[in-house]
Amino acid sequence: ADWAAAEALIRALPSTSRVLLICHVNPDGDALGSMLGFGLGLRRLGVHRLQATFPGPPEVPDPFRGLPGLELLVPASAADPAPDLVICFDAASESRLGELAGRLSTAPAALVLDHHASNPGFGTVNLVDPRAAATSVVAEQLLARLGVPLDRAIAECLYVALTTDTGSFRFEATTPAVHQLAARLLATGISPGDISRRVFDTRPFGAVRLFGEVLGRARLEPAAADGRGLVWTFATLDDLARHEQRPYVLEALIDSVRCTAEADVSCVLKQTAPDEWAVSMRSKGAVNVSRVAVALGGGGHTFAAGFTGRGTAEQVIEAIRGELTGALLAGDA
Ligand code: 5GP
Ligand code: MN
Ligand code: MN
Repeated sequence: ADWAAAEALIRALPSTSRVLLICHVNPDGDALGSMLGFGLGLRRLGVHRLQATFPGPPEVPDPFRGLPGLELLVPASAADPAPDLVICFDAASESRLGELAGRLSTAPAALVLDHHASNPGFGTVNLVDPRAAATSVVAEQLLARLGVPLDRAIAECLYVALTTDTGSFRFEATTPAVHQLAARLLATGISPGDISRRVFDTRPFGAVRLFGEVLGRARLEPAAADGRGLVWTFATLDDLARHEQRPYVLEALIDSVRCTAEADVSCVLKQTAPDEWAVSMRSKGAVNVSRVAVALGGGGHTFAAGFTGRGTAEQVIEAIRGELTGALLAGDA
């Protein structure tokens, strides 16, 4: 990680520079929170020609509609002036940037902030820390180096990012440093109860019924990988249409599946086109699901990864089964 170069890049920005902030497709709390929090920080440094955007449909998922800094979000258009600097948040690879990937490669400078071990470092300057619990941890460190004080708005963005990516401080990456950062964020006066209710504990009734249906068709395969189970389910475009729900509501589904005691690996297949599925995978520690995902064209972290699957749901699961044994973690059998 090249902290000095990243700091110099930002410090050298004239106040008239145009900075484009981008994050990965289907943005989650870490992608949006680190991008908007850092954008608000840049504004405090006097950089005002800021545009934040993400690939795909421009709708912000309901859980993130209360984030400060949403006014920075402007859908990208071909008429946009060329930016002097592009900053990319929480994207493990350029492929996660969809139609915005070109913006990054043609910009005079590109700064990549991320925490995926598989990130090849596709910027001109890269701050990639695989030990960081969230990209927001990296973003906050850079803001601190730049001397930007944490205000409530920045803190709320970074808190949403930190809590979403650590599963509310439940995952292994929850280090003392994570709690120390959370303490600094809370000290600005943000309301963790309100934030958590909005981000984690609010969904439309239709989504509750949709979850019931999709969880009702979950399958448990006892001997999927070395005697440890695989649990999986799928949600179709028709399921979404019948319950009048937008695709983002399915992002929380994996959390209701991965709690299965009999399974180490859990998968949710979310249909995105007739023969296409966004696949979420989790492991409790026996399988490196990132290896499975990379083998099938995706990526992610050791215990949380994903890829785009093609064919029927059964074909996608068969492809996963084929990769599981090879992805068993040594010494864990
Ligand atoms: P989720 O299951 O929450 O969508 O994603 C879990 C992890 O897998 C995230 O760190 C995300 O970056 C990664 N991931 C999910 N889907 C894909 C994908 O299609 N391609 C790649 N490269 N990574 C993915
Ligand atoms: Mn993310
Ligand atoms: Mn992240």
